[in-house]
Amino acid sequence: MADDQSRDKHILELNAKAEKLQAQKEMLLKELNKTEEALQVTVNMYARYLPPILDYIQDQNSSFTASLKQLSTAIKNGDPKSKIEQLLTRVQTDMLKDTHEPMATGQKGKTSFLSGLFKSAENGGDYLENLKKGYIDLVNSLKETIDSTYTPKLNQIAASIQSADNIDAITQLKDELFSQIQQYIYNLGADREKITAFVKEIVKRILQIEAGINNSYEHTNSSVQSSEEFGSLLNREIGELKNSVDVSERLEDLKTHVSQTLSSIEIALKEKSAKDKAVKIMSEKSRTDFQAGFSKLKKELDQAIKHSKDLETKLNQDPLTKVYNRRAYIKRITNEMERFLRYQTIFSVLVLDIDFFKKVNDTYGHAIGDKCLQEITKRTTPVLRKNDMLARYGGEEFVVVMPETPSDGALVVAEKIRTSIEKIEFIYKNDTIKMTVSIGVSQVRNGDKSHETVFERADAALYRAKSEGRNRVAVA
Ligand code: GH3
Ligand code: MG
Ligand code: MG
Repeated sequence: MADDQSRDKHILELNAKAEKLQAQKEMLLKELNKTEEALQVTVNMYARYLPPILDYIQDQNSSFTASLKQLSTAIKNGDPKSKIEQLLTRVQTDMLKDTHEPMATGQKGKTSFLSGLFKSAENGGDYLENLKKGYIDLVNSLKETIDSTYTPKLNQIAASIQSADNIDAITQLKDELFSQIQQYIYNLGADREKITAFVKEIVKRILQIEAGINNSYEHTNSSVQSSEEFGSLLNREIGELKNSVDVSERLEDLKTHVSQTLSSIEIALKEKSAKDKAVKIMSEKSRTDFQAGFSKLKKELDQAIKHSKDLETKLNQDPLTKVYNRRAYIKRITNEMERFLRYQTIFSVLVLDIDFFKKVNDTYGHAIGDKCLQEITKRTTPVLRKNDMLARYGGEEFVVVMPETPSDGALVVAEKIRTSIEKIEFIYKNDTIKMTVSIGVSQVRNGDKSHETVFERADAALYRAKSEGRNRVAVA
């Protein structure tokens, strides 16, 4: 019983193992199919492309080409892999053997690059000669292209190539040649940078120069002209500069030319600045001169005006009392009379005389008398209107012209004058000096032909005031 159970168990285990193996087998078969498919694709590809290629290259009567032919046929026929592998090995062996077997002289036909090359080398030195010729041609074309400073070195290399008798010597010279070319390229690169930097510097300096011109002095006619001259010079120089950058092959030439150009630009700029400066100085000088002349002229004119005013003042002013003088009075009264005669605009005249003035002079001296005269005008002026005119007629006599004033109004003013003067108390030493005045008043009237008539009437009234006791006003 126990044996049966053990056997059943073992069978179950074996079944499970068999199923597992079956699954593994199916999986492996699947993978195998995939690989075979991929292989078939590859084989088909070889069968399609390799035979025509092999037919093309193997066109010569040699063991190498015979092996190629057999390989091609085998691939076309789909021969087994083992046979194709065997044929491939033979092709490889024949290829190596063929390259070292001298070809029959005069053999014609297509030659591959490798076979041609090795054939020359093995065929009495043709290869070496061809190589030397190729390198010498290269050296010559380089001499024509690159900087002439390299010519001596290139000549030396060419001579060495010419006298070389083996490939190793040529290889060594070739390295030397390449190092020269590298040097040239390196220098050329460095020069280009230098040129760029140099041209940038030039542009910067030209911009600075132009900015200098724009910021130059205010444009007078001549500075505009010199700017134009400079501008055309600058354009010409810049034009030449551009041309020279285009044509100069050598940096040294360019440097020399650019330096000369910049020098002439700088000289032109200096000349322009000098011209502008001169013009500025001249214009400033002439402006200063003009200003000085103008202020001098103005001063002289002011002085002349003042002098003229002073003269006029002197002509019309009494020097002692500073009131108007007789001359001014005559002018004014004449004017008032003319107005009256034309427009009937009335006026009045006061004639004022100091009472017993002779006595003041005699008692206190002429100087004190003068002071009294000044004091009287000082007291009289505030009583009058602005349009009224106080004038010293002569000695200790004064007149007042009062436009638009009738005799009664003039009388009031005269009274005010009289009272203000009688209040004067002039202290001299221990004495008190007092003064009085007599005033004659008269208004212009119809029938008066001249100002003298009016004055005479006022003077007559004054005489009456004197005769009636002084320190009083009388109207005529
Ligand atoms: P009245 O007029 O009251 O009759 O007496 P009076 O003394 O004023 O007499 P009169 O008019 O004849 O005298 C005028 C005097 O005035 C004479 C002179 O001494 C004095 N006199 C005239 N002019 C001036 C002057 O400019 N300065 C001084 N200090 N005195 C003058
Ligand atoms: Mg008098
Ligand atoms: Mg008098």
